Amino acid sequence: MVQLDERLESILAEVIRRNAGESEFHQAVREVLESLGRVVAKRPDFAEGALIERICEPERQIIFRVPWVDDQNQVRINRGFRVQFNSALGPYKGGLRFHPSVNVGIIKFLGFEQTFKNALTGMPIGGGKGGSDFDPKGRSEGEIMRFCQSFMTELYRHIGEYTDVPAGDIGVGGREIGFMFGQYKRLTNRYEAGVLTGKALFYGGSRARTEATGYGNTYFVQSMLGTKGTSFEGKKVVVSGSGNVAIYSHEKVTSFGGKVVAMSDSSGYIVDENGIDLKLIKEIKEVRRARISEYLRIKGEGKGIYFVKAGEGSIWDVPCDVAMPSATQNELTGKDAKTLVKNGVQAVGEGANMPSTPEAIRIFQEAGVLFAPGKAANAGGVATSALEMQQNASRDSWSFAQTEARLAAIMASIHDNCAATADEYGAPGDYVLGANIAGFVRVAESMRALGVI
Ligand code: NDP
Repeated sequence: MVQLDERLESILAEVIRRNAGESEFHQAVREVLESLGRVVAKRPDFAEGALIERICEPERQIIFRVPWVDDQNQVRINRGFRVQFNSALGPYKGGLRFHPSVNVGIIKFLGFEQTFKNALTGMPIGGGKGGSDFDPKGRSEGEIMRFCQSFMTELYRHIGEYTDVPAGDIGVGGREIGFMFGQYKRLTNRYEAGVLTGKALFYGGSRARTEATGYGNTYFVQSMLGTKGTSFEGKKVVVSGSGNVAIYSHEKVTSFGGKVVAMSDSSGYIVDENGIDLKLIKEIKEVRRARISEYLRIKGEGKGIYFVKAGEGSIWDVPCDVAMPSATQNELTGKDAKTLVKNGVQAVGEGANMPSTPEAIRIFQEAGVLFAPGKAANAGGVATSALEMQQNASRDSWSFAQTEARLAAIMASIHDNCAATADEYGAPGDYVLGANIAGFVRVAESMRALGVI
């Protein structure tokens, strides 16, 4: 753990005191504060006016009841959240997560990270995040729709094209965005396409939004590998998760000449030495919505294919050149990092938000592994959401190639900005420091300009 200077230590202590028990939020704040010592030394004005304290305090936190009726006619109750973290750069922007683990601390950590991530994209978007402890697994389409409608019946009064623009995250994909957009339209009697992103193409979505986070992470890692004169070509890659981010990371890695040999879900991981068959994963996950062990059942035993149940091993035991954790927070531990380093990993790109524990990050950095933190590497999703907002505002629709070219340019610029900032602050190659400082400076400059609000 990096020793914080006295002033930053007391800010962190106050954040912990005021947000008791919210360990993921404490972890995210600590990581950013660890990078800010160098900024405050160079620009003491950023520590004035309680600016850092204000950046750690969400502008607004909304918690609400979500009642809905299941297929057995039983009334169910979940809790809904929207944390509007920081709007210094634009309307709040960030996804909605439906997962039983969701609580206010997780939403706060995600909203805090989102603020800096959105700043890194260079686009006019503030940071926010939301969701519910609703578990969509095993629910019928009718139950999902009724839940989404009830969730939006409260959320609609807090969002809008110029106020707050949610999108998807874990458990919220195109289907859920559609149900929520439908209910928003019905409640407001407005066709306000720019109120949600991640929409389907036929009613205001953007081409390449579905692919953007996974593609973006792959572009970022490709740029990092480029600094060492290498690329994905011929590399073995492990991608955790098998949701939106993981699937499209696989697609881009493959197009760059890499081979994805393992993927997972919360029930375990699958290894295919010949390269995971993406068409089959899409069929299992996007169409059948089934467990990943289906892969083995369909392909058959042997032939370099096997399945390991959750709890009986870690996906990070599978030897690889590049690791792309793309499932959830703290999924890659210090022990996993040691195994990856021992097996010769060269680069890690965080597709998920905060998937590596602080100990894992330290181990990668000490071993000289290229390490891309989520707030930079997975920013392609929200950047393309901002492109979706642009298209909605101008009632336009761009081609896939045009949108992907914008995404690629944005990722190259985030990479170069993080690298240059790390150089400027005396830590060449430290993308964590570069991302934290570059994101912070943009938000902080804007907050200073807007006064104490
Ligand atoms: P999805 O719901 O599409 O997929 C999530 C995947 O991760 C599933 O395979 C899921 O398995 C697995 N997973 C989720 N929680 C756990 C857990 N507790 N333990 C083990 N596996 C788990 O979500 P996304 O792909 O959209 O999101 C993945 C990560 O990427 C998240 O951290 C998200 O915040 C981040 N992200 C997403 C963006 C986007 O555009 N979608 C943008 C930027 C970041 P199972 O189905 O079994 O639960």
